[in-house]
Amino acid sequence: MKSYRKELWFDTKNRRELINITSEVQNCLRESGVKEGLLLVNAMHITSSVFINDDESGLHHDFEVWLEKLAPEKPYSQYEHNGFEDNADAHLKRTIMGREVVIAITEGKLDFGPWEQIFYGEFDGKRRKRVLVKIIGE
Ligand code: ZN
Repeated sequence: MKSYRKELWFDTKNRRELINITSEVQNCLRESGVKEGLLLVNAMHITSSVFINDDESGLHHDFEVWLEKLAPEKPYSQYEHNGFEDNADAHLKRTIMGREVVIAITEGKLDFGPWEQIFYGEFDGKRRKRVLVKIIGE
């Protein structure tokens, strides 16, 4: 069995950003040489997410509005967590959007449905953060 591990780093300009990382993950899969197996991608921080959805700008706007309704960033004082930090909303948003995705690898490719794309969801950005890619198979 082959095993592969790589960290992908991100440094966002904004507090919140959604970044399509599908091609970077595909590069990892090529590098691994795995043809049949499983691929895991997980955020290594508790204020960012990895999830699969459509790469459509209207939907991305809808995510922002929906997440702000569920866990508004401001006022910071509404959250117990915001004693020394101001990122309670980012922890909550991350929990809703998820920590990781697992994707089947078939014949050397990500075995996706027609519109599936992998996203890094940043909710407390403007600093370097990373994602883990782990691939196992043969
Ligand atoms: Zn925090």
